[in-house]
Amino acid sequence: MHPERFESWLTVGTHGLYCRPGGFHIDPHSAVNRAVITHAHSDHARAGHDHVLATRETLALMKARLGSAAKLGTQALGYGERLQVGDVTVRLVPAGHVLGSAQVVIEWRGRRAVISGDYKRSADPTNPPFELVRCDLFVTEATFALPVFTHGDAKGEVAKLLKSLKQFPERAHVVGVYGLGKCQRLIALLREAGYAEPIYLHGALAACCQIYESFAVELGALKPATGAKREELKGAVVLAPPSAIADRWSRRMPDALTAFASGWMRVRARARQRGVELPLVISDHADWRELTRTIHETGAHEVWVTHGREDALLHHIQLTGRQGRALALIGREDEES
Ligand SMILES: [Zn+2]
Ligand SMILES: [Zn+2]
Repeated sequence: MHPERFESWLTVGTHGLYCRPGGFHIDPHSAVNRAVITHAHSDHARAGHDHVLATRETLALMKARLGSAAKLGTQALGYGERLQVGDVTVRLVPAGHVLGSAQVVIEWRGRRAVISGDYKRSADPTNPPFELVRCDLFVTEATFALPVFTHGDAKGEVAKLLKSLKQFPERAHVVGVYGLGKCQRLIALLREAGYAEPIYLHGALAACCQIYESFAVELGALKPATGAKREELKGAVVLAPPSAIADRWSRRMPDALTAFASGWMRVRARARQRGVELPLVISDHADWRELTRTIHETGAHEVWVTHGREDALLHHIQLTGRQGRALALIGREDEES
């Protein structure tokens, strides 16, 4: 192992990314002895690890989604706290992606690597903003790593939803949202925009909302959609997992108007394919400009790309005089985007 040669001490093996001098994996895709988890989305936080180190919020979300966060033991690390793990120091800093999401900052013999997990730079009332850490190696995601992806302002998208509610006061507005992150961000954005009515939730979304509230994220009045009277649901906002918006579940809603909040809504074909009448471009991932800006600002000479559209980003990394590498980790999906 040599500190200057990152690939000698941050290796990619059968379980994913491994820090040799620290003796732990980062977001491994199968069960390991020691894991550091960036955030609770299912493609990063798997079940069955012996020991898990993460933020308190991520541990709580993992427990709710997986039954338990680890088989033998968990350790919570607050944002900014330093911890010696084996021969390295580890620090978790906000990634701005979802509640509890963190970049993992690893220092070994004067070299610093930052593993970003998923991140975004735009404002999100439900979690602290992305914190830039200067480093020698930056490991970035690449979910929306094409110049065509520009997410724009989420507030403007929420304004579209509010306008539609005024225009169609008889129709239930059924909005497809991912259960961890997008759901709570959309609720918080609606509240920021002054929307004070109860918001109705599909049953699958309730647990994560409760955890956000237990960490003092205010979501206002939430009600279960199942069992609500048809009359109540007219002109109401009803949030449901993406899989529910096109099926029988949403047909029970009074004259459902289907919306979907996702970075993928920039691609019109995807909206059409899902039968979405009101696409809302709201993403919890960095767009092309945020990715390239962040890589530049970290000052990293070496950049590794974990998942998404690696090719365009690698090309950009090399064009700007940095060393790039595609990690091609398996088991990462672009689902919860
Ligand atoms: Zn994620
Ligand atoms: Zn991811």
